[in-house]
Amino acid sequence: MQLENHSRIGIVGGGPAGSMTACFILDLAKRTDLIVEVDLFEPRDFTLTGPPGCNMCGGVISESLVQKLAVSGIHLPAEIILDTIDAYTLHTDHGNAQIGAACEEMRIACIFRGQGPKGAETQKPLPWSSFDHYLLELARQQGAQWIKKRVKKLDWDQGRPRVSWSEGEVRTYDLLVGAVGLNGPGLSMFEQMNFGYRPPRHTKSYIAELYFGSKEVEKRLGKSMHVFLLNIPGLKFLALTPKGPYATLVVLGDDIDETMLERIYQSPQVAQCFPPGWKVPVVTCHCQPRIHIGPPRHPFADRVVMVGDCSSSRLFKDGIGAAYTLAKACAYTTVVHGISKEAFQHYYAPACRKMDFDNFLGGVMFSMDRRIRPVAIVQEALLDCIRREQNDPTSPRKLSMALWDTFSGSASYRTIFANAANPGVMARFFSAILRQLLARMKN
Ligand SMILES: Cc1cc2nc3c(=O)[nH]c(=O)nc-3n(C[C@H](O)[C@H](O)[C@H](O)COP(=O)(O)OP(=O)(O)OC[C@H]3O[C@@H](n4cnc5c(N)ncnc54)[C@H](O)[C@@H]3O)c2cc1C
Repeated sequence: MQLENHSRIGIVGGGPAGSMTACFILDLAKRTDLIVEVDLFEPRDFTLTGPPGCNMCGGVISESLVQKLAVSGIHLPAEIILDTIDAYTLHTDHGNAQIGAACEEMRIACIFRGQGPKGAETQKPLPWSSFDHYLLELARQQGAQWIKKRVKKLDWDQGRPRVSWSEGEVRTYDLLVGAVGLNGPGLSMFEQMNFGYRPPRHTKSYIAELYFGSKEVEKRLGKSMHVFLLNIPGLKFLALTPKGPYATLVVLGDDIDETMLERIYQSPQVAQCFPPGWKVPVVTCHCQPRIHIGPPRHPFADRVVMVGDCSSSRLFKDGIGAAYTLAKACAYTTVVHGISKEAFQHYYAPACRKMDFDNFLGGVMFSMDRRIRPVAIVQEALLDCIRREQNDPTSPRKLSMALWDTFSGSASYRTIFANAANPGVMARFFSAILRQLLARMKN
């Protein structure tokens, strides 16, 4: 089962996964002298501010992804990058420490997925532009046809997938790519196609765009992402990221509710990053998107394949990087090896399995973190180790690297684990615990 000249490909969803899949398929097809027609269904206009133009995300892109995109011919223009981060500041209940980038190339890019938060339109002309719009335009330039409609129904037409959108508008495709993310009703349409697909496990998260003004953001946050390891029940991850005049607050955790958010906003560690006297506005641009936490079931069949968040992704980090990896694997499989279930099983599934396995390791690390996070002495020893590594130019900075990679998403959990569990790191960590114990006994 192969693509032939004038085969039709329908891609449902024009977020990063859908747009990049379109780009990579069209690029590979051109190189192999194959003429394919690609329709990209995406109802959103990413040039709008607020929820209508936004795909709800922290908007941090690791340096390794910026480089991978460039290698694939996707050079992010300056107006998409609102800020670059060259440090992480770790705040705990017992103090803080800063982890600097090991080299210039390790800068992390901060982007808005749409045209910016609700209310930003009053600042016209806006000095930044949308990441998702850029990718969608790139797909159009490569030859994809953008159909600005929401797909309403999916079914089969004599063994080929059929897509219905507006009243009476129906088209049959040789290949259907699902790139609908996790946040819409699109997932159930794919379940109802009865090829065995079950969506990934997901949980609710929270994002708010806090307006401080550029000067205050620079003064309070600098060029650093602020990560808070606080002992708040259910909290898994909390970060404030500078983005031009905004600070993006991202909260991951179990059962995020008003009480948890109240505790976060009132915590002294978080409040010290706010301008003096700053109060959370009654109306902030915020959302509670779903985040991927477990693999899907049967993400492909003959003539249909799922990519991006609605397939496999990376646990709590680098979702756009994961979308890139699967878009590449999907394009390579479909153009070079065909569109049968067997082709996807052989050439696409390994990329998904690699991510799923790595997430398993990540899950183990997160559950260890949750157990030891409340222990004061562990937090103090961690800060002590980081400070010593950062102040020693000869140190290999393995612990700092492990934390940098965890927050930025630059490396796999396997690499992070190898760095964190390095015998040298362990020895320094346990001696830091010993030092803390001795200091306590003295006092
Ligand atoms: C709180 C939070 C913070 C995050 N922070 C980061 C981060 O800092 N860095 C990072 O790399 N990743 C981050 N992610 C993950 C990232 O947002 C996702 O991994 C990424 O958006 C996945 O891209 P996608 O294209 O698969 O899905 P999406 O971006 O969700 O795109 C899906 C698209 O499909 C369209 N669609 C849906 N249904 C239909 C339909 N029926 N017809 C037509 N179109 C349809 C939607 O309009 C949407 O545009 C974060 C996620 C969360 C929840």
